[in-house]
Amino acid sequence: MNQTILLNPGPVTITERVRHAMQREDLCHREPEFAELALDIKARLAKVYPEAAKDYEAILLTGSGTCAVEAMLSTLVPKDGKALVVTNGVYGERMAKMVKIHGKKIEVVTSLWHEPMNLIEVENRLIEDSSITHVIAVHHETTTGRLNDVAKLGKICKHKNVALLLDCVSSFGAEAIEFDAWNLEGCAATANKCLHGVPGISFVLVKCSLFDSRPSAATSVYLDLYPYYKEQQQGYSPFTPAVHVSYALHEALIELEEMGGQKARYRHYHTLAQKIRQGFKQIGIETFLDEQDYSVVLTSFHLPTNATYEELHQFLKKNGFVIYAGQGGLKSSIFRIANMGDIQLDDVERLLDCFQRFDA
Ligand SMILES: *Cc1c(COP(=O)(O)O)cnc(C)c1O
Repeated sequence: MNQTILLNPGPVTITERVRHAMQREDLCHREPEFAELALDIKARLAKVYPEAAKDYEAILLTGSGTCAVEAMLSTLVPKDGKALVVTNGVYGERMAKMVKIHGKKIEVVTSLWHEPMNLIEVENRLIEDSSITHVIAVHHETTTGRLNDVAKLGKICKHKNVALLLDCVSSFGAEAIEFDAWNLEGCAATANKCLHGVPGISFVLVKCSLFDSRPSAATSVYLDLYPYYKEQQQGYSPFTPAVHVSYALHEALIELEEMGGQKARYRHYHTLAQKIRQGFKQIGIETFLDEQDYSVVLTSFHLPTNATYEELHQFLKKNGFVIYAGQGGLKSSIFRIANMGDIQLDDVERLLDCFQRFDA
């Protein structure tokens, strides 16, 4: 049983059934039993968004969300191509750093962390520079909780016939993703955020037709998606996969389906996030962004004026809740509450009760 509810944006509080799945028998990853498990995980991942099931395939990697993001960028941005990275937070900036380190041509359209993506500038860059092959962005920028306007960005990409690569690490399984309308070539995600698995496995959903029409552009051995794609047709992997973590992801995906799938998870998160925002408003704690800008996954709040983050964090931890600090320049001004994982309304009620008792 969990003593503590995790309100950080991954790893999340898991259910007992997912925890138990990790205790299944030891498996060699070169045996058909593992291949069968991997193939079933791949099929279920591709079906989380029914629209993706036909044309996209989930490539499984052993590593955290960053591993999948870096594999996507390294493999899919062509060596003779050019990336336009759109940033308004830590995770967009990290992707710009990756593209640079992998030696690909890059341009960056930067916004401040409290601002939306600068889509006017994106459009201008695409008009002026026809050598740009890929636009790269973050779906849900976990730095602030903003759900970026990817619907608009995707429309621009579609119109200009430029491929979109998305970091969906903290949105996959909960927020809506449109594959065709956004001209999506690939999106990266992880087992241990909105899918409610445990850390250790991440994946990239890639448009399958690519693998036959373009060579790999990978600048890394471990992060080259092409060998994974090839071997995973039969359920195997070029390197040792996290077997027990795979059991947990498999169980978490079955659990997601039984609970009604992505749309039902969206509704559950929406209910929790609304309760959290309303509750904090009543206590007098204000959101960092305008309410309509948030995802259903996470909310950033201004720290109360009478307390430091450390004091607040310690008090809540003693009472069974782990909250999350702001990053970079927001470290001493905000805190964050994620509501992904096995969290119910009564957990949120206990959190709000607890907050009301906080007196620094
Ligand atoms: C959590 C997160 C990541 C990084 O995931 P790790 O598992 O910590 O490597 C990347 N992008 C976004 C948007 C995230 O929320």
